[in-house]
Amino acid sequence: MLEKILTELQPTQTRLVAVSKTKPEAEILELYNKGQRIFGENRVQELVAKQEVLPKDIDWHFIGHLQTNKVKYIAPFVACIHSVDSLKLLKEINKQAKKHDRSVDYLLQFHIAEEETKFGLNLEEAEEILQSPEFQKLKNVRITGVMGMATFTEDEVQVRREFKTLKKIFDTLKGRYFPEAAHFTEVSMGMSGDYAIAVEEGSTMVRIGTLLFGER
Ligand SMILES: *Cc1c(COP(=O)(O)O)cnc(C)c1O
Repeated sequence: MLEKILTELQPTQTRLVAVSKTKPEAEILELYNKGQRIFGENRVQELVAKQEVLPKDIDWHFIGHLQTNKVKYIAPFVACIHSVDSLKLLKEINKQAKKHDRSVDYLLQFHIAEEETKFGLNLEEAEEILQSPEFQKLKNVRITGVMGMATFTEDEVQVRREFKTLKKIFDTLKGRYFPEAAHFTEVSMGMSGDYAIAVEEGSTMVRIGTLLFGER
């Protein structure tokens, strides 16, 4: 399945985040041994435990809701945090990254789905963060793009519309705030059920769990 997905992603150079949450280390190693290096987790404790025992050249992406008080556990090693949805959280990531004399990449998470329960910002809230003087002072975090989750539905028209919305948000932010920034490139969208649509709509990073590891 890994090979099949990578072949599909190849024409657009879309990167694969293998979402390994709840899956044992042995199964992660299996994909690692086939060359996969980016893995995604959504629980801090689980991520820390896995990072300790698995190869150090894995790029760990945090994709779940992140509580401020838990940032310190992943700050020493995390490669990218997909789920930043407040200035408060961002300031804490900056603070903890600084302690370890490193910089952490992150994406702003947007609410593009119909469901009420999903986390994320709207464009106005994101711009409020990007325009705040406090944001300008953060030197140990680097924004690399945006992330979003479409509604869990069979309705492809709706899913496509939501991905288009996220791509448009990305383009707007790039134009207004990062026209010269070579690092502002990522649109993290697409999961097992909808990644093909996401890639068509401009995803640069898909986050796939179930298709690679089976049902959780
Ligand atoms: C679990 C999860 C995924 C992967 O979902 P699958 O449907 O198993 O591919 C992707 N993104 C986020 C944020 C997740 O929590």
